[in-house]
Amino acid sequence: MSLKSFLQSTYAEHLHIVLFGNPVQHSLSPLMHNTAARHHGIDIRYHPVQLQKNELPLIADFLKNDKLKGVNLTIPYKHDFLRFASNLDVVSKKIKAVNGLVKSDQGWKGYNTDVYGFKKPLEAYNAQLKGKKAIVFGSGGAAKAITFALTNLNLEEIIVVSRGPDNVDEKIKQLADHIVSYKVWSNYSSNTALYVNATPLGMKPHLDKSPVHDTEKKYLENSICYDLIYNPSTTKFLAQADRAGAQCMNGLDMLIYQGSKLFELWTDKSFPYSIVKEKLNTTFDG
Ligand code: NAP
Repeated sequence: MSLKSFLQSTYAEHLHIVLFGNPVQHSLSPLMHNTAARHHGIDIRYHPVQLQKNELPLIADFLKNDKLKGVNLTIPYKHDFLRFASNLDVVSKKIKAVNGLVKSDQGWKGYNTDVYGFKKPLEAYNAQLKGKKAIVFGSGGAAKAITFALTNLNLEEIIVVSRGPDNVDEKIKQLADHIVSYKVWSNYSSNTALYVNATPLGMKPHLDKSPVHDTEKKYLENSICYDLIYNPSTTKFLAQADRAGAQCMNGLDMLIYQGSKLFELWTDKSFPYSIVKEKLNTTFDG
């Protein structure tokens, strides 16, 4: 729904949380948060709103509504909404991106829980990663959060692979040890324990694509391959990794964990992880 439709609806008169992004129509976050709220019997609804950049000047007023309990942000607004936060948590201050706003005594506080969401499913592998390299494909918003998360995992080196290494975001340049092109990434594969796909390759409309060429899949052997994409649940990258004997993870847990932290901040209730995960899995299975 558009911002205009939302404002003309009765939704804004009830307790609500809004996801701003563009596009937002395929997001699983409404199902996730509405399931969690229903589980606790909280009378609060989570609505996705497709926001246009030229509507940003309307947001300061939008945030004054007492019935608004929280804001969630996705592409392309994680940077734009920094201006609406009166203070920031440590992570969003470091990476200059927020994925959530939470009401506080000082106004709206900005949070970045993508870093937590990415790291949490990796906890089981921390020992395997220590002293090894990680290679991240892509250098967008998610890659920035991930590169930051990886700096806390005692890795030997972090390598970011980009189609245009010279044009990569300054923050990523500061955090990564090397920014390299697709032509040379395999030169860094020795002692690499983790490969992360942080590109859209593998999701619609790039379903048959992967950042790794079929002739390169041997480099994934015995590693952990983490695709941030969760729909489809097995991307081409993960299929290649599986064939190479790697351990595979998709992005569903990252999505759930980044959302769980925000849900708890917005509502002061514990996040019902198993119930939400089952609901999302059932939805995928059709
Ligand atoms: P983004 O800001 O658009 O960045 C994606 C990056 O991928 C770009 O900066 C680009 O890096 C690279 N890329 C884009 N198109 C490409 C192409 N055709 N071929 C090769 N590389 C390409 O997106 P994002 O927010 O970082 O998201 C990246 C992926 O992570 C998406 O699939 C998104 O759905 C997923 N994600 C998942 C979660 C989760 O909770 N599971 C959270 C956030 C994002 P270069 O220009 O440097 O090559």
